[in-house]
Amino acid sequence: MANIYNFSAGPSVLPKEVLQQAQNELLDYHGTGMSVMEMSHRSAVFIDIIDRAEASLRMLMSIPDNYKVLFLQGGATTQFSMIPLNLFRNSKKADFINSGSWSKKAISEAKKWGTPNVVASSEDQGFTYFPETSADMFDPEADYVHITTNNTIYGTRITQLPDTGDVPLVADMSSNILSEEYNVEDFGLIYAGAQKNIGPAGLTIVIIREDLVGHAPADTPIMLDYKTHVSKQSAYNTPPCFAIYMAGLVFDWTIKQGGVAEMEKKNEAKAGLLYNVLDESSFYIAPVRKSDRSLMNVPFRTISAELDAKFIAEAAKEGLMTLKGYRTVGGMRASIYNPMPLEGVEALVAFMKEFEKNNG
Ligand SMILES: *Cc1c(COP(=O)(O)O)cnc(C)c1O
Repeated sequence: MANIYNFSAGPSVLPKEVLQQAQNELLDYHGTGMSVMEMSHRSAVFIDIIDRAEASLRMLMSIPDNYKVLFLQGGATTQFSMIPLNLFRNSKKADFINSGSWSKKAISEAKKWGTPNVVASSEDQGFTYFPETSADMFDPEADYVHITTNNTIYGTRITQLPDTGDVPLVADMSSNILSEEYNVEDFGLIYAGAQKNIGPAGLTIVIIREDLVGHAPADTPIMLDYKTHVSKQSAYNTPPCFAIYMAGLVFDWTIKQGGVAEMEKKNEAKAGLLYNVLDESSFYIAPVRKSDRSLMNVPFRTISAELDAKFIAEAAKEGLMTLKGYRTVGGMRASIYNPMPLEGVEALVAFMKEFEKNNG
């Protein structure tokens, strides 16, 4: 088997041990003679799988009892619509911090059901920093405030949560959930597509405070009403069973690694290696403001698109895969999610130094 390191932004690398466990259990899950893919979502065996996945996630994030955990489909993108549909319950106004392409998509969906107000934006500088806010910038009448905690494309993250007073904070954590510690109680709703730090595509995690459930208008499509999924334990219809099973394995792997606090330490060490090389080099350009650098997605480039292309091609020959930057950003991007081992980042750093020596 080819020995590579996969720096894909998503879907992305999964822990080898988890893939091996899934392989071992693929044809016969725990002596049932069936694959998880073949089981009824109403069976006791599957209900145990989903219950344990939820329990593990609750443990990892210390999720309080007054928050519901939902296993949904439709990706983070469906949440861009579900959130305004369900949370525009009074003023139908919401405050947004515009920190990148995903924020912009969330804003444009919210316009369909109410009035999104952009309180701060980093678009003026190509989203290379995370915009600052102060408490007085937020509308106390807003139904919610929306942030993207980690900007997958631009490589920025929020390091200080906004002070929104009593207005619920809603966070798109698709690309940094479980990578650093957050206090769930600081949020009204957290959502994340699974395919970055959690598992295969097809599953979306929603963590929602109880009092925010049950406010969708009567004509809301039943699948887009949080209440439907809360009242049926995420099994109103067939949930993405296999993706939930995989997510459960990744949660248990994360617990075995020492949990989120330990992951955060490892992620800081991994990202630190890369940022050090970028800072010490006059060959590579790191566009993001230092204080806002992502631990998960590290964009960088050389002085020319030709050299960038050469870097990407030669890196691939060394087994360092999927380093091309997002199409609108160009250059390179190394996504180093939780399952990326330290050795992968060390191999990339060694290659970067060698490439600089040969081309600088
Ligand atoms: C990947 C990503 C999305 C889109 O997720 P889908 O599951 O493809 O809808 C949204 N927000 C962020 C921050 C992302 O990284």
